[in-house]
Amino acid sequence: MDLYEHQARQLFEEYGILVPRAEVTDSSKKAREIARRLGGRVVVKAQVKAGGRGRAGGVKLAADPAATELTARQILGMDIKGHRVRKVMVAEPVEAAEEFSVSYVLDRATGGFLALASARGGTEAGAAAVRRPERVARVPVDPAEGVTSSKAAGIAAAAGLPPQSVDTLVRLWQVLVREDALLVEVDPLVRTRQGRIVALDGRITLDRNARFRQARWGVEHTEHDDPLEAAAAARGLTYVRLDGEVGVIGNGAGLVMSTLDMVAGRGARPANFLDIGGGASARLLADGLSVILSDPSVRSVLVNVFGGITACDTVAEGIVQALDTVRLTRPLVVRLDGTNAARGRAILDERAHPLLEQAATMETAASRAAELAGEG
Ligand code: GDP
Ligand code: MN
Repeated sequence: MDLYEHQARQLFEEYGILVPRAEVTDSSKKAREIARRLGGRVVVKAQVKAGGRGRAGGVKLAADPAATELTARQILGMDIKGHRVRKVMVAEPVEAAEEFSVSYVLDRATGGFLALASARGGTEAGAAAVRRPERVARVPVDPAEGVTSSKAAGIAAAAGLPPQSVDTLVRLWQVLVREDALLVEVDPLVRTRQGRIVALDGRITLDRNARFRQARWGVEHTEHDDPLEAAAAARGLTYVRLDGEVGVIGNGAGLVMSTLDMVAGRGARPANFLDIGGGASARLLADGLSVILSDPSVRSVLVNVFGGITACDTVAEGIVQALDTVRLTRPLVVRLDGTNAARGRAILDERAHPLLEQAATMETAASRAAELAGEG
C-alpha cells in the first residue's frame, strides 16, 4: 500500500526529518485560510497516489491566499493518471539551493535493500535509474546492518550528496524499518541556502504483510492504489493489474497463473490477473471485460476457461451477453475446453463478432493473443 504524500510527510516529521510546514484540506476555501496561516505564498499539491504530479499540473505555486483558493479549486477534482484529486496539501514553499533524490527500495533479487541516490533530483528516482544508470549511485544495504551513520556517509559520498544529509539518510532508513516499508523515496530532497536538508516530496510503500502493525492508517488499508483494481474490487472481481498488453480472464487462480506464464512464454506481457472463479454469469464476464478494456495498455484479451463444474456453454452465453453490453474495442481470443466445450464453441461461432476468435488449445490461444497484441 502506498501512502499519500501528506502521510509520508507526517511520518518524516515524527522521525525528526525536516519537512515544510503544511496542512491538508478538501476545500478551496480552507486552502485559502491555510495559506494565510503559512504566510501567504504557498505550494498547492494534489494528493494522489501517483508520481509525476508536477508535470501533470498537480503542483502549483500560489502567490497569496486568494490565488491559493483559485489554484486549489483548479487542482481539486483533477484527474491525474486516473486518480481523482480529492485533497490538496498546502505547503510553505522552500527555497532550494540544491536538489537531490534519495530512495531505499527492496531488492528482491538479492534479498536486501538498495539505496538509490542522485544529486540531480527533480525527477522520480526510479525513472532516472532506468534512463541514466550512471548518474544514480546504487548502494546495496544489508538489512541486518541497516543504514548507520558511516553507511549513510558512504551513500552520500557515492551520490555527491552533502555531508549534512547523512543524518537524514539514517532517519529515512529508520522510517523504512520501523514502519515496515518496502520503499521510502524522497524526490526532491533539498539543501536550503542555510544548509538545512528538507524533504519536499515523499513516497512510502508499506508492506501489507505487516498490516497488523499499521492500524493507524485505518480505512486506507482497504483502499486500492490502482483505480482499475478499485473498480474491479467494487464489482467483486479478483483482479490484479500488471503492466503488460494482454488482458487475461480465466477460471481458477491456478489456471489464470499458468495462462500468465504462457502469455509471457510467447514473448508478450500479461496486463492483469483476473479470476472469474466458479462463476460465469454474463454479468461477471461483462464486468471483467469492461475493467480489462478500460486499461489503455491492453491490446488483446485472452479468455481461458476449463469447464469443470462451470460448463463452457454457460461461459459462452456469458461472453455473448457481455458483448451486448460492452463494446469490444480490441481482439478477443477465447479458449474453451472441458465440460460442454463443443456446445460452448458453437455458441461463440454463431455470435460471429469480427474481433472474436477461438483457439482449440491453451498454447495456441496464448500464441494468438500475444501475436494480436504485437500487431495492435
Ligand atoms: P511530483 O511531481 O509528484 O514528484 O511532485 P513534487 O512534490 O516532487 O513536486 C514537483 C516539483 O515541484 C519538485 O520536483 C520541485 O522541483 C518542485 N517543488 C515542489 N514544492 C516545492 C517547494 O516548496 N520549493 C521548491 N523550490 N520547489 C518545489
Ligand atoms: Mn517528486
